[in-house]
Amino acid sequence: MGRQGILIVVSGFSGAGKGTVMKALTDRYDSYALSVSATTRDPRPGEKEGEAYFFKTREEFEQMIAGGALIEYARYVDNYYGTPRAYVEKQLSEGHDVILEIEIQGARKIREQYPEAVLLFVTAKDFATLKERLIGRGTESEEVIDQRLRRAVQEAEGIEEYDYLVVNDVLDDCVEEIHRIIDSEHRKISRNTEFIEQIRAELNAFAKGE
Ligand code: 5GP
Repeated sequence: MGRQGILIVVSGFSGAGKGTVMKALTDRYDSYALSVSATTRDPRPGEKEGEAYFFKTREEFEQMIAGGALIEYARYVDNYYGTPRAYVEKQLSEGHDVILEIEIQGARKIREQYPEAVLLFVTAKDFATLKERLIGRGTESEEVIDQRLRRAVQEAEGIEEYDYLVVNDVLDDCVEEIHRIIDSEHRKISRNTEFIEQIRAELNAFAKGE
């Protein structure tokens, strides 16, 4: 029986460490396909084209929107971010679990289009840690950090729209928790209809004396 790929959305406040968690998760388990988003924001030091993001100009991004190349897109602190359609559809059709690390407006659009997607919200254990991580990263100006924290205030209002809450305190624990959540999702009855039909057919054949 072919295992069905699950679309997994991971959101969380800026500074929650989502990027680090996703990298550790995909390094440890090669069963996950991590979608690379397109964005109009500038690369941070060390961010590589096609790895962290596909870095686009505003015109290029708007062309992608117009051409239907994105499953969803959103504006976040003065920039566009969007999920390229082709990669996600290909990976899912091949039975891989696909992870989208996106903000809440995008998560809502994914839920509309893929009702069976699993939505995870990742947070630091408290506000002080969040702020410390954002400042410690040293890649954003004070103004942008402030905007990102204000955005977190809004995002916090939407947490109930997610299926699971994961606190990123100890990185390793967080990675394992996420892996276990996804593993459990695969065991849901509703995700195993093909298998169930198959074994039922075998049992029915036995009952009929075939
Ligand atoms: P950052 O600039 O810190 O890399 O990302 C800013 C926010 O944009 C994060 O909350 C991140 O999850 C979100 N984001 C990244 N890629 C996408 C995307 O393709 N679509 C949406 N809606 N949000 C994204």
